[in-house]
Amino acid sequence: MDHFFTDPGNIRDKHITIEGTDVNHIRNVLRLRPGDEISVSNGIDGKEYRCGIVSIGDTVECELRFIKEESVELPIRVHLFQGLCKGDKMETVIQKTTELGVYEVIPVQMIRSVVRLDDKKAASKVGRYAGVAEAAAKQSKRGVIPQIHSVCDMNSAIEYANGFDKIIAPYELAAGESFDNTRKVMDSVKGLKDIAVFIGPEGGFDASEIEALKAAGAETVSLGRRILRTETAGMTVLSWLVYLLES
Ligand code: SAH
Repeated sequence: MDHFFTDPGNIRDKHITIEGTDVNHIRNVLRLRPGDEISVSNGIDGKEYRCGIVSIGDTVECELRFIKEESVELPIRVHLFQGLCKGDKMETVIQKTTELGVYEVIPVQMIRSVVRLDDKKAASKVGRYAGVAEAAAKQSKRGVIPQIHSVCDMNSAIEYANGFDKIIAPYELAAGESFDNTRKVMDSVKGLKDIAVFIGPEGGFDASEIEALKAAGAETVSLGRRILRTETAGMTVLSWLVYLLES
């Protein structure tokens, strides 16, 4: 079943409209026709609106058949604070963690981030990243499109994360530590609503950043004995959470 996103305002009672580049895709690539069934989400409430295509013109007009309430979303919202890394790595992080159910991604300019973005560049990158999140959300039939925040510094990242139920910081210097701590920290997220996960950039965390995170109550964990690349670390945490929370 092909899955699309539309603005919440385009879902009115039993009538659903799809616009933009999806129209051409539906008509010329997927070659769907009136009567075919598609699933639509508004990207926010996690619901799946199953509907039948009524007409295909400048927009695709559909009629609601039923709403699938059961959600494919993780039972907790995972806010991924990713140390800013090179463009293609950032895109990999966004694509893969979206497939795994991340709720939002906050790119954070950290001390050892190799890339520095000025405001103009940062804004255009974030627009691109949002496109990657939407495409991945569509592909994995998510009910929610992960938000991609504008790039922020470590202080504002920690301030934002302080509002969540728990902060987890996988730390490369904890790599050799006992796994009991990792297990304990991961288990403790059950039943929570919002957790923050901080991942260092290619160069890793600066000690001062780990101190600041700890001062904010973050728990550092090992992700195993090997050092993972920054783009592997976030997806590792997410896949453990899927196993822990969905099985
Ligand atoms: N360049 C650094 C590694 C950075 S890895 C070095 O060589 O030591 C990038 C980020 O991934 C780290 O900051 C950490 O958040 C995470 N990470 C990678 N491997 C990890 C591990 N084994 N345990 C915990 N965190 C890890």
